[in-house]
This record gives sequence, structure tokens and C-alpha cells, in this order.
Amino acid sequence: ETGTDRSAKLYQKALKLMPGGCSRNTVLRKPNPLYAESAAGCFVTDIEGTQRVDFANNMAALIHGHAHPEIVTQVSEQLQKGSAFTLATEAEVDYAEHLCSRNSGFDKIRFVNSGTEAVMSCLKASRAYTGRAKIAKVEGAYHGLYDYAEVSQTASPATWGEVSSPNSVPVAFGTPQAALDDVVVIPFNDAPRAIAILDKHKQELACVLVDLLPHRVGLIPASTEFVVALREWSENNGALLVFDEVITFRNGYGGAQDNYPVTPDLTAMGKMIGGGFPVGALAGKSEVMDVMNPLNDKVLFPHSGTFSANPVTMVAGLSAMRLFDTEAVAKLNAQGDKLRAIITDAITQADVPVCVTGAGSMFRIHMKATPPTNYRDAFASPQEAKLMTALVDHLFDNGFMMINTCSGTLSTVMTDKELTHFAEVLVAGLNKLKPQLDA
Ligand code: PMP
Repeated sequence: ETGTDRSAKLYQKALKLMPGGCSRNTVLRKPNPLYAESAAGCFVTDIEGTQRVDFANNMAALIHGHAHPEIVTQVSEQLQKGSAFTLATEAEVDYAEHLCSRNSGFDKIRFVNSGTEAVMSCLKASRAYTGRAKIAKVEGAYHGLYDYAEVSQTASPATWGEVSSPNSVPVAFGTPQAALDDVVVIPFNDAPRAIAILDKHKQELACVLVDLLPHRVGLIPASTEFVVALREWSENNGALLVFDEVITFRNGYGGAQDNYPVTPDLTAMGKMIGGGFPVGALAGKSEVMDVMNPLNDKVLFPHSGTFSANPVTMVAGLSAMRLFDTEAVAKLNAQGDKLRAIITDAITQADVPVCVTGAGSMFRIHMKATPPTNYRDAFASPQEAKLMTALVDHLFDNGFMMINTCSGTLSTVMTDKELTHFAEVLVAGLNKLKPQLDA
């Protein structure tokens, strides 16, 4: 049986059970999503029996592809012993020790269950530490679903406001105005404008939250100048600097922050540090992390979670991260450089107004001639969005799974063979779309 018959049927059933037929919008495809059967290494097989190379890696959450034998062994052993207790485990202590050893700015760490929760905990810890309510974030950057972290990534340009003072625009209907009023939005990589905005909220800001390679902002690296300016401003004004490394932690042994001459007060992590299981973590300076210390007379930020630091995630994460040593990180980043060069060649060969951005093991293909520099730039026009989906579909139909913004991440189990094959399929796709791209 070929085609998408089984998936189509399953989706009809799912539509009656879940809004939109799913629990996460990211898996949707038209006319129906495909359902996974199994996966190994960098290949995923759907229930129709079609195998594809996986550049989506569960939204950048898998660093060693699927079912890595070492991780499977560790997790299987743990499952035999139980998956969650109302007791701490040695696995948690071991993993905390490992992650703290990767970054000299990680004095203390706490585990949670998602990136959303990690960012939320960083913001709440910042408020508890400073006694201030407001947070600042970059326009358009995605940081998960917490009310405050979520604002300013609406798809409606009319709501954005002035470049010099972007609006705090809600994503979800019903977001309290009070929440919006407590979020200060700054433009990406524009230090003078960002500082001018921050200056208007001196004494009010608990922290400045920034992703060093924000996907929705175009997957372009934060400039050193921008990050240094935010570090200096926060230090001089009693605010904390928080890095969201939920995705970018994969780009350096101690996170993408290894590439910058600054140390944040707190770092949010998630995705790949779970070794394939749900996870989040926040780490940083002792005195800040101490707001969560239940042994203090006054606990400024009481913090718990039923499945936080569950031993299945802990052993999976520890074995994944041990495998992702300095050598593996360097090798994967070099593969990323190679792939972006290959993509650039494919674009040149097809001679189309398309470009590629990214860094480390991540890339994003834009249906634009020049790389965007901020969220407004990166935003796909309706025509660009149509072409982007057409390219994602072409890649999918020819054996490559992408994130639906035409972004992808590498995993350590990919070889040059997959990269070369990707380039061939990409050139064919770009040639096919050339008449529309040139129009
Ligand atoms: N921050 C960033 C930068 C992310 O990319 C994501 C997830 N895409 C999150 C936070 C939220 O993580 P989660 O989906 O695990 O809640």
C-alpha cells in the first residue's frame, strides 16, 4: 500500500478527538499529516512505509538522530527500575554535575520538563531576584508559551508598530493587558535602538531575554556588539541577562554562548539535553539560582514539578550529552558549515533569489535574495510563504523532512552522503520553482 491512505484515515479519526487533529501544530501537513512508524539513525519511516532523512529532528531536539543504541540501553535499564519516584535519584545528581561542568557560568542548575518551563522559570527567578516585574525580549523571537515570553510574534505586520519602539503584541486572544504592559520589546541586533528602549524602563526591568540564534527572527546570529551592549546595560541597571539556549545549546560545548565574550546570569535549556525525552533546565549564577532554594528562611521563588528530573530523562540526557563531547560538537558544526556551503552552491546553480542563514548545526532557507537582518525582514510575504511551503513539500516528497519554515538541523549520525543527496534534490526543487521565484 502506497500513498497516504492509512495516515489520511487516522487523521479523520484524530480530527474528532483533538482540535486540528493533533496536540502540536508543528506536525500538521496538508492535506493530512503523516504518522511515524519507527526511526533509526537519521531516517524516519512513516506508517505508509516511506523512509525519509530527518532534518527536523523533532524540532531540533535530537542531536544523535533516533534510537541511538547507547541511549536506548541506558533508558531501557532505567525503565526496568522505574520511571519516576517521589525521591531524588543519583541520575539527577550525575547529570547536574555533567551539565555544570560544560559551562563555567553554570554554578547551579535545576531541571524542568520543557523549554517553555525553562524560560518561564528564568523569568520568574529574575523577578524574584530583582523584585521587578518587567522583562525585555527581542521582537519576533519565539521562547515558548509563557504569557510574557510569548508576545510579539504575530503574523500581522499591521500590529508591529514603529521599528524604533515595537509593540508588545499578544499571540493568544485573552492575554491580559497587564502581561503585555510588563513586556518591553527590542529590535534584534540594533544596539542603539534597543538600549534607547531599555533606558525608558530603567529600574523596572527584571531581565533582558535573548536567543543568540533566533529561528523566527531569521536564524541569524546575534552580533557580539548587540549581546555586549545588553550585558553592559543590564549590569549597569540592576537587571539580569538571560539567554534562551533551548535550541542553540547544540552549537557549542557549553552552548552558543561559548562564542561570545559575556556570561549571562541565567541560561534556559531544553530540547536536545533530554536525549530524546521531555526536558528543560535553567542554570546560572549561584546567588540568582538561590531564589529557588527551599532551605532559605524566605523562599523567593518556590519551584517544583512532578516530572522534573525524572530518571528516564536524566539518563537519556546524560548519555546523549556525554556522546556530544567537544570533538563531536566541533565535527557537527563543521558539517553545518559544509551543508550551508552546499546549499549556497545549489542556489547559485539554480540561479534563484533564495538565500540560506544559520550557524553551527542549523540552517534556514529563505525565499529572498538577501539574508534577513531582523524579524520584519525575515517575515515571509504571502508569496514567499507559498514558495517556501512548495519547497518544503518538494523536499518531503523526495525524501527529506524539514521544519516547516524550511529550516533544518543536523544530527551526529548523518553522513556526507545525505548532504550530497540533499543538494541534488534541492537544486531540482529550486529549478522547478524558478519561474515563480523569478516572477
Ligand atoms: N525557546 C526556544 C528558543 C524554542 O525554540 C522553543 C521551542 N521551539 C522553546 C523555547 C519552547 O520549548 P518547548 O517546546 O520544549 O516548550
